[in-house]
Amino acid sequence: MALLLKHIDCHCCGTRHHFGIDDYGWDSATLYEYHCSQTGEKATMRLPLTATAEDAPHWPQGVVPLRPVGSAAQAAQRPRSESSTAGLRHLS
Ligand SMILES: [Zn+2]
Repeated sequence: MALLLKHIDCHCCGTRHHFGIDDYGWDSATLYEYHCSQTGEKATMRLPLTATAEDAPHWPQGVVPLRPVGSAAQAAQRPRSESSTAGLRHLS
């Protein structure tokens, strides 16, 4: 089973596409990557909270597949955790 999200704004070409997720569920906090069907460029986006997904046993033609970007990779790119522990240095 897959999910279909219709008429979602594409940040790459400025028009709207139907996006498909090959999984159960989605959330607005997850970063997804896709290849824009208009420009062919790779792009990333977060889905709007207002998006509605429908079950789609078969995606119609032209649907752009979304792939979640690994959450572990996102966590590794947070430099702020280091500076928060640096503030405790005066205790020693
Ligand atoms: Zn596009």
